Amino acid sequence: MVPTVVYAGSAEKRDAYRTHLSAAARKAGLAIDLQMNPGDVDPEKVDYLVYSNDGPVMDFTPFNSLKGILNLWAGVDTLLKRDPPAHIPIVRMVEDGLTLGMVDYVSGHALRHHLDVDRYIHASPIEEWEVDFPPLARDRTVGVLGLGALGAACARALAGHGFRVLGWSRNQKQIDGVECRSGDKDLDATIAETEILVLLLPYTRQTERILNAERIALMPLDACLINAARGQLIDHQALLEALNTGLLRHATMDVYDVEPLPPDDPYWIHPRVTVTPHIASVTRPETASLAIIEQIARHDRGEAFLHVVDRARGY
Ligand code: NAP
Repeated sequence: MVPTVVYAGSAEKRDAYRTHLSAAARKAGLAIDLQMNPGDVDPEKVDYLVYSNDGPVMDFTPFNSLKGILNLWAGVDTLLKRDPPAHIPIVRMVEDGLTLGMVDYVSGHALRHHLDVDRYIHASPIEEWEVDFPPLARDRTVGVLGLGALGAACARALAGHGFRVLGWSRNQKQIDGVECRSGDKDLDATIAETEILVLLLPYTRQTERILNAERIALMPLDACLINAARGQLIDHQALLEALNTGLLRHATMDVYDVEPLPPDDPYWIHPRVTVTPHIASVTRPETASLAIIEQIARHDRGEAFLHVVDRARGY
């Protein structure tokens, strides 16, 4: 039986996914019935739903024969709130374009903070020629919280650049060049050693406000933060206080409790905060389509999906 694959992502990307999903299926030698509008198909006949939160599907209950929800995004916090029936596997997006984009964003901002680039960009004419060399990357400690698809790739890239990299995750990992740590007991010690802290944890019950006032207070003087994960990981009041008092040098923020970030949010005008509009990385239709077709092909061969969400853990 040719599986029915229905695109239920954003309208803007529909044409790109039509092109790239068809091409990826051809390349893989996989016959699929690709439908680009959920409204055109009997929901009971849909095998795979290529889904994103900004698409047209809010209610999964009519999709009785669904074999999988193939999420176009890496984060599943919003999707899980829509409560898809428990028996339908949810597959997170892991694809090269998304991963490489995040590596670029995190590496760029880490290097910027490491070299204190802002100091020179914002410099005004000075009377004295201040010579103040930055340390070498190997003398700078970067911490990455979350060592999944994105965190592990960023940690590897930062280590490749020469930084001393500390990585922290729930389960112990082994990544070349990265000092991996795990479990609650190691979190505070990792934060206390970290000069540039990168957040790449999912938003779950366990990680909500994980960077709280006590942990922010552990960060070394002049440390910087890069949050490319979710706004809800941070106690924002405590972060603003730490920036105001000069404990922290800078925060690069890509994600917020409310998006778009409201115009009156203090982050917008804070001199020690860089606001980027959730652009750290994005799923790219060309590379994502390869990953989606590979998942469908696996399932059709009777193999398990990769990157299945564990609903009890929330990621
Ligand atoms: P992932 O592969 O699921 O990895 C999550 C990592 O976090 C894993 O290493 C996991 O540990 C760790 N973790 C989860 N809960 C933990 C806890 N309570 N304590 C310690 N470690 C914990 O996710 P990903 O693909 O790397 O994506 C990470 C997040 O990035 C997404 O959830 C999303 O919110 C965000 N994101 C943002 C953008 C953007 O543009 N800003 C783009 C894509 C994704 P284990 O490995 O031990 O399970």
